[in-house]
Amino acid sequence: MLKKLVLATSNLGKVKELKELLQPLSLEIYSLRDFPGLKLPPETGRTFEENAILKARFVSSFTGLAALGDDSGLEVEALGGAPGVYSSRFAGEGATDAQNNEKLLGLLKGYPQEKRRARFRCVLALCTPEGDIYTGEGSLEGVIATEPRGTHGFGYDPVFLLPEAGKTLAELDLKLKNTLSHRARALRAIWPALLRVFGRSEPGYG
Ligand code: IMP
Repeated sequence: MLKKLVLATSNLGKVKELKELLQPLSLEIYSLRDFPGLKLPPETGRTFEENAILKARFVSSFTGLAALGDDSGLEVEALGGAPGVYSSRFAGEGATDAQNNEKLLGLLKGYPQEKRRARFRCVLALCTPEGDIYTGEGSLEGVIATEPRGTHGFGYDPVFLLPEAGKTLAELDLKLKNTLSHRARALRAIWPALLRVFGRSEPGYG
């Protein structure tokens, strides 16, 4: 059975969460940080699924290993679903998380809570060395806070409020975020494929 998996991302936030979620499979896990010469092609897909597959295919063919692509982002209802697949570059190419959050809060300034509904979405795509593709999707509903709060996580976590908990995602530690996030749900959806490709060592999500 294959035991090596490359995460097709260099985003440290995604890498940390995925490594923790994948622990039950006891894999040797790499990320693009282990392949400095490998630069992902531009994300030309129109959907999270297209982009996740594009990343997984590219990295699997470059490394000869199984690869897991993560394409994810934030959809804000009042903005017609923006920033969506453009989440990482909302405030411009190379924008920081803080700049993206600032732009988002600026656009929603004065909007009442009921007009601040948003959803995180994540599609994970697994590409085997033979080129077989499996995908799984997950989402998480919330509202955009009026100011950033919390120090955990990455991206839009400090402005993504879980109304029932009264906390932003950045106020949850990694383990707690991993019990409910869009990424954890996408991984749960793709889990049967991971078990098929890597074999079962522990029950995990099963
Ligand atoms: P991409 O998948 O590399 O195109 O970028 C996804 C972008 O969506 C990230 O750079 C973040 O801005 C945002 N994002 C995706 N998942 C999360 C999350 O779990 N928390 C906060 N922001 C996220």
